[in-house]
Amino acid sequence: MDFLEPKIEEYVIGHTSEEPPVLKELNRETYAKILMPRMLSGHLQGRVLAMLSQMIRPQNILEIGTYTGYSAICLCEGLKENGKLFTIDINDELENMVRKYFLKEGVDKKINFLIGDAMKIIPGIKETFDLVFIDADKINYSNYYDLVFDKVRPGGFIIADNVLWSGKVLDQKEKMDTDTKAIVAYNQKIISDKRVENVLFPIRDGLMIARKK
Ligand code: SAH
Ligand code: CA
Repeated sequence: MDFLEPKIEEYVIGHTSEEPPVLKELNRETYAKILMPRMLSGHLQGRVLAMLSQMIRPQNILEIGTYTGYSAICLCEGLKENGKLFTIDINDELENMVRKYFLKEGVDKKINFLIGDAMKIIPGIKETFDLVFIDADKINYSNYYDLVFDKVRPGGFIIADNVLWSGKVLDQKEKMDTDTKAIVAYNQKIISDKRVENVLFPIRDGLMIARKK
């Protein structure tokens, strides 16, 4: 679901920096060849993630849910020199495509691409992060938050995607499916957590941005 009126969306995109060429190609290839291409962040959200990363200037980023690597490449744009992005995905079938684009964009040496279940991988990561982007299975959003929290430095950010879940967060509780319930629980968890301040940005499908105090 698109929250913006199409004409406004067109205007917004028309007045947002262009999608860099490699990302444009990755976007196209994902739509041509890969299942569920709508999961890719895309032009507007990609530029938002790149801009946020430029503002934060992170040394270390953790992304949970690589898919075809689009958001990872965007987030790399703000990394400090010698900064690193860790990205995790359970789906090994996309590995070749993802690595091809990391190489093409010249970010392959900055990225630690980990394949497997994020729930199992995260506890073994020793780094501290300035920015975490949660975008994998919705059912585990709250678990991911708990797993990463102590790895985020004070003043660091935890961003979660799809927190409006196509508007289904407004459904009647009895009618909610499990993913919707998990997203609603995540949003409730963040707003109740005194250790962070947060804003739910109504960008695309909703970005919850929490800053650790
Ligand atoms: N961040 C990407 C889109 C991610 S789509 C972008 O914006 O372009 C969600 C991804 O989460 C899928 O590729 C899926 O394979 C992955 N995923 C689902 N469950 C997972 C798990 N338990 N551990 C790691 N990745 C998982
Ligand atoms: Ca997403």
